Amino acid sequence: MFSFRTRRPTYERDRVGAIERFDERDNLFAREDLFRYFDDASEARAGYHETHPEHREYDERTAACPGLGRFGGRHEWAHTVPFGFCRDIASERFVDGEPASHRVELSPEEASQRVKQHALSLGADLIGTGPLNQEWVHSYVGRSFGDADGFEPWGRPVDLSHHPHAIAMGFRMDNDLVHAAPEFPTLVATALAYAVSAWVSVRLAAYIRTLGYSARAHHVYNYRVLAVPVAVDCGLGELSRAGFLLTREFGLGVRLGAVTTDLPLVHDGPVDIGVQSFCERCEICAENCPSGSIPFGAKTEHNGILKWKLNEESCFIYWHAVGTDCSVCMSTCPWTKPRTWLHRVVSLAASVKGPHQSLLVAGAKLFYGKPGPPPRERATGMESLRPTRIGFHMRALAVSLVILAVLGVWAGLGAAGGDTAAGRLAAIGWFTAVGYALWLAWTLLGVAVVWTFGAEGERRASWMSAAFFGGVSAAAAWLLVRASAFPGF
Ligand code: SF4
Ligand code: SF4
Repeated sequence: MFSFRTRRPTYERDRVGAIERFDERDNLFAREDLFRYFDDASEARAGYHETHPEHREYDERTAACPGLGRFGGRHEWAHTVPFGFCRDIASERFVDGEPASHRVELSPEEASQRVKQHALSLGADLIGTGPLNQEWVHSYVGRSFGDADGFEPWGRPVDLSHHPHAIAMGFRMDNDLVHAAPEFPTLVATALAYAVSAWVSVRLAAYIRTLGYSARAHHVYNYRVLAVPVAVDCGLGELSRAGFLLTREFGLGVRLGAVTTDLPLVHDGPVDIGVQSFCERCEICAENCPSGSIPFGAKTEHNGILKWKLNEESCFIYWHAVGTDCSVCMSTCPWTKPRTWLHRVVSLAASVKGPHQSLLVAGAKLFYGKPGPPPRERATGMESLRPTRIGFHMRALAVSLVILAVLGVWAGLGAAGGDTAAGRLAAIGWFTAVGYALWLAWTLLGVAVVWTFGAEGERRASWMSAAFFGGVSAAAAWLLVRASAFPGF
């Protein structure tokens, strides 16, 4: 219904110089792999720290840390199984291959439609197509698991110049699990979303190769591109202050996969969903980041682009301390909400640039507050999520029923007095009747909002909205009764 398509990606307004391609050997996981898979004297480890002595101390420190997922207890499998699956299908024979010798001739429109249907039927939640900007292709391979069989060796130059098109896909993370951040369930949400992204991107690339075109999958253990700017170019969302892709549908709670190809496609083009101006006004992720890694204030220049530059090193150290991928920024971002009617309406309003975005930020702070401290005794949290939320849902339902019962008694009293609807209107006048109608609509909207927040397990937001809607409703009712002496009250 509403189109947020724009001709140029929003980062183009922030371009201030030349962009150098990212060397994957500088990726923090790749640097950790140097200690996990290569020995001291190897060309990879010794050579890297000779050319980057400034990274040595940090890399030694993270390499000595225990791994992620160690607080999963008996649920540890919940992240090791999906991540293991990603690794199983990350080698070159899964992500790449020779195209079929016979090429199926397809128009770009038909090809785009087929590709999208295929990916959505396999499990993608968001999909978009765009040009593959070669600036987002890694310059050198950094993740090779110690040059394991089937993987491109560490330090090999990357060339994707034969792929002019990109297909970006978003995979929704489980909202309840993400909102347990920074505890263990959030790592499970990450692992599950990446597993689906690995499966879908590998199958989609294989499908395109059966059509006779070159195609390569990119997923968590074998990206050859920077997934976020590729997704921006394909119109999935925009780069946020937190450094993740922010989507209108799932906020920051989404993981990415991609396929690059020479199959001619219609490009969907980028979107402008108001993220740049929203993030300028909102610093909720920065305020809540436990390691202080997300910058406050204005964007600064980094590699030819003005952006909010995440301190990846302090973030990564925190991951090791807490034993998960943290995700507090993701869970506290006001866009990362379930796709209920309430959040659809609010995200639509948030996507339009303007001063009302400041009001939405203030509302988010008031309604959601700060997340509580992590539990004193570290538990997996997996067992307690559902019962707590369902319990609160039932309380919200009970409150809603009480309000509806009061309205019912009032209507019944009026009817018992022999009034007809027409008689009532004649008695109180049209102007006051409209006032009552608005009051009733407001009250019912309040019930729906309180109920929805309750169902989501958002206690504070539910009580705050009950106070807000209830307060306004009570004041309006008092004014209306004073003004009209409405019979039946
Ligand atoms: S993942 Fe955690 S530590 Fe890292 S930026 Fe987000 S909130 Fe901060
Ligand atoms: S929390 Fe606020 S500033 Fe951070 S990414 Fe979300 S909208 Fe942007």
